[in-house]
Amino acid sequence: MRVVEPVVELARGLWTTLRMMFDKPVTIQYPEQKKPVKARFRGRHVLKHYENGLEKCIGCALCAAACPADAIFVESSENTDEVRFSPGERYASTYEINMLRCIFCGFCEDACPTEAIVLGDQYELSFTDRRRAIYPKDMLIDPVPPGGKPVPQKTEPGTFTRSVPEMKDPSD
Ligand code: SF4
Ligand code: SF4
Repeated sequence: MRVVEPVVELARGLWTTLRMMFDKPVTIQYPEQKKPVKARFRGRHVLKHYENGLEKCIGCALCAAACPADAIFVESSENTDEVRFSPGERYASTYEINMLRCIFCGFCEDACPTEAIVLGDQYELSFTDRRRAIYPKDMLIDPVPPGGKPVPQKTEPGTFTRSVPEMKDPSD
């Protein structure tokens, strides 16, 4: 009896190993292979452009006010029709997020009146130097969409007077 029991347990273990060898692997070859994230995944922030290339961010700092971790720093400057970065009066001349503080709650996204800041699907956020944890605007901003012009743009006077565009009714 003392011999049979270990042999049965050994056979059971080997059977489990054998069975798993023919199962579909659950591991992936990261970083060559990347697993798609879920639709509501909250990754690294992205600052968006309009289709014409103007930045959606108007430097209002509502995201910074809403951030419970005090992770966002925004400094705004004036737009003119000669040198325009975004619709309306102001744009974010400095926009920084301290990733050591961020808790990925998404409050900044909810607070933004122009849908400029979005938590995207980027999750590769490692760094070895604390100074590199502060992401500046040029790291956060999306590329200008195809067909759009880079900023600053020269625009027709009176064309971009509204900072906040007409938005869809979320209840639609
Ligand atoms: S996700 Fe939350 S913690 Fe991170 S910057 Fe936005 S509001 Fe702050
Ligand atoms: S991201 Fe949105 S809330 Fe934050 S400063 Fe820009 S426009 Fe304002």
